[in-house]
Amino acid sequence: MERLYAPWRIEWVRREERASEGCVFCELPGRDADRNERIVARSEHAFVLLNNYPYNPGHAMVIPYEHTGDYGALPDAVLLDHARLKARTFDALEAALGPDGFNAGLNLGEGAGGSIDEHLHTHVVPRWAGDTNFLPVLSDTKVIVEALADTYDALHAAFAGQAGATVPDEERAVLVEGASE
Ligand SMILES: [Zn+2]
Repeated sequence: MERLYAPWRIEWVRREERASEGCVFCELPGRDADRNERIVARSEHAFVLLNNYPYNPGHAMVIPYEHTGDYGALPDAVLLDHARLKARTFDALEAALGPDGFNAGLNLGEGAGGSIDEHLHTHVVPRWAGDTNFLPVLSDTKVIVEALADTYDALHAAFAGQAGATVPDEERAVLVEGASE
């Protein structure tokens, strides 16, 4: 029960990424395989990635392209765009999954429990009343993988339905207008 209120501690590291020398949050957007990498939406300065080990269905991360762990170092345009994409992520999750609420937040610094602290990312976790019931189900890896594909499709469609969104290709993330546009 206690850890329900600290979802930021979920580790987001796959075996292949753990073996990688580089930064996964810099590498994934450059692979040009958004659906495969579970990048569901992009804006001018940020992107939305589904968590491979979701705390709850729809657990996503909103990540600036800029590689930094220092929130205050982000330029204003990036901060605004990142915040706008976070707001769009709430809307898309609301439309796709209809949760009762959200937890959202950053892990900053080694002591905060994040697995990748050199490239900041905002966790967005949908919450349902009584959602402790999801935890036993989501501990099953096979169920997680199948649920991720379903969640991706539902969330992709929800982003695509927003004003200012375009879907360039079925295998690509939805593009949403940036805060500066
Ligand atoms: Zn990075």
